[in-house]
Amino acid sequence: MPELTTTPPLTKLSEEEELFRDTVRDFAEREVRPRVAAMERASTVDPALLAKCFELGLMGIDIPESHGGAGGSLLMTVLAVEELSAVDASVAIFVDVQNTLVNMLLRKWAGDDVKRRYLPRLASDLLGAYALSEPDSGSDAFGLQTRATRRGTTWTLEGRKLWITNGAEAGLFVVFANSDFTKGYKGITAFAVERGFKGFSVGKKEDKLGIRASSTCELILDGCEVPADRHRGADDRRGARRPHGGAQVREGAEAVRQADRGVSGGAVSAGAGRHGARGRPAHGVQRRATRSRG
Ligand SMILES: Cc1cc2nc3c(=O)[nH]c(=O)nc-3n(C[C@H](O)[C@H](O)[C@H](O)COP(=O)(O)OP(=O)(O)OC[C@H]3O[C@@H](n4cnc5c(N)ncnc54)[C@H](O)[C@@H]3O)c2cc1C
Repeated sequence: MPELTTTPPLTKLSEEEELFRDTVRDFAEREVRPRVAAMERASTVDPALLAKCFELGLMGIDIPESHGGAGGSLLMTVLAVEELSAVDASVAIFVDVQNTLVNMLLRKWAGDDVKRRYLPRLASDLLGAYALSEPDSGSDAFGLQTRATRRGTTWTLEGRKLWITNGAEAGLFVVFANSDFTKGYKGITAFAVERGFKGFSVGKKEDKLGIRASSTCELILDGCEVPADRHRGADDRRGARRPHGGAQVREGAEAVRQADRGVSGGAVSAGAGRHGARGRPAHGVQRRATRSRG
């Protein structure tokens, strides 16, 4: 009789997933917790902590190793976000936005040239932000009004984005705009916008009641010039909708961990399972974790 094979239940972490979770838990206690109060008071993330997150591989958890990432899975991202959330929501959110919105969008929908250009840096030293929401389009993201116009080898973006996480610190912004309003939401596409591009600026930073160390900013696109090859990057409206699948999983992880610090695998695995989150293990993260401990 042929041998029956089954995948392990999502409520049971593999040995590597447990090691990964414990590594992040230890990092959160040793490196994040002592900084939390000062970062909340200063309304900013300690740049040294951000550098440590990159060093540990937490900013490119499921970027493939071929692109310089840790080669992990969505489940591992959720585990990391859950463990960080137990100590500080602000740090959890910047790790989370980087992995589940920015990296995931580029990984799934960008062209090879854009992947080669940005993924290795997103895994090593470049903080990203995901710019979809606007003053009059929050939940109704397909109603966005930012306009993209092609002129020769350059796209010009006109509009305003609001409440963009990591806006104060990010070097790369995935910006959604409509390139053809006659097509309705089907005209929506995305651009990889670097902080230094002409016509791009970061406006007001929100003064929030909580999670203050995580920046939430306005972006101003005033004739922002984007080379045409940065558009081929995320040339698809799907990115405006589908990354939220990943985002919903980790938002669940944040809420669970913040609400009850005693909860661990169960709730996370239930969310991650819906998205087939268990992939191959993040060897890269563990290697780096071992190095940084030594
Ligand atoms: C701290 C913070 C960080 C953020 N970071 C980012 C970011 O990094 N990038 C980004 O693009 N955006 C970001 N946002 C924006 C966030 O995604 C939007 O606030 C969210 O999409 C909701 O939009 P809104 O506030 O305009 O609310 P609205 O869309 O106006 O919704 C208001 C209420 O109406 C309900 N509602 C809306 N539509 C319907 C409907 N059709 N049927 C029934 N009920 C409905 C909603 O559930 C909600 O309760 C952030 C917001 C905050 C507060």
